[in-house]
Amino acid sequence: MAHPLFEISGRTALVTGASRGIGHALARGLLEAGCTVVVNGRDEDRLKAAAAALEDTGGTVFTAAFDVTDGPSVVAGIAAAEEQAGPLDILVNNAGMQLRAPLLDFTDADWHRIVDTNLTSAFLVGREAARRMSPRGHGKIINICSLQSEVVRPGIAPYAATKGALKMLTKGMCADWGQYGIQVNGLGPGYIETELTRPLVEDEEFSSWVRGRTPAGRWGRTDDLVGGVLYLASPAADFVSGQILYVDGGMTSVL
Ligand code: NAP
Repeated sequence: MAHPLFEISGRTALVTGASRGIGHALARGLLEAGCTVVVNGRDEDRLKAAAAALEDTGGTVFTAAFDVTDGPSVVAGIAAAEEQAGPLDILVNNAGMQLRAPLLDFTDADWHRIVDTNLTSAFLVGREAARRMSPRGHGKIINICSLQSEVVRPGIAPYAATKGALKMLTKGMCADWGQYGIQVNGLGPGYIETELTRPLVEDEEFSSWVRGRTPAGRWGRTDDLVGGVLYLASPAADFVSGQILYVDGGMTSVL
């Protein structure tokens, strides 16, 4: 039997960007832990299919399709999520994107798109969720940061800038919202096989660099991230806030 400190059944969670990849795996983990889960993404059909694929967990899953970069849509989307599922206890700000290009060639439009998707989204969704959580006196917010909140390589400077800023937004949310019983932490995945990293996985030279550079000697799987999120969402982490938990097979620790 699990220790009661890790008991989160009956809680309600919203996971943004949960129609595939990491968000989908985190939604599955939260459902398996007994949470009611609202999955988000922009594409309604893809989201419905993703929710149907979670039904085998036996948990209760709802969908809320909205664009996390658009303020009014976020406000309406979170209201719709709470109407269906009840008050949110847990928010996972996971939606994100990658655009790889040399910095000299990076366009203004792409810069604004990646900042909006990876950083402004967490502010908009986090603020709206926290406005609802704060009068209730409790809440858990988990921002999906990255290995690139700490380190970077050529061709991904804008992505690293968004994830580095998301780390500091996490600490700032912790500073502002701790008084309301809201804990805000980040989870920093290393190199995880998903659609976002497919071009890298398929590049054998890059892929073997990842394996060689990671003490665990392999790419991460989306399931590797579930335990960290369940911990940060649980009472075991009630006095943990403003921290980034790197789940990267050890990559950020070694040269
Ligand atoms: P992914 O496979 O590309 O999935 C991204 C998800 O976000 C999709 O469900 C997508 O659905 C949704 N999304 C994108 N833009 C959105 C928007 N504006 N509004 C609402 N939903 C949106 O990505 P992933 O690899 O699972 O990555 C998930 C998160 O982990 C990202 O924040 C990423 O930066 C981070 N991360 C990933 C890795 C990795 O190695 N994969 C490593 C470190 C950090 P729609 O397109 O239907 O909207």
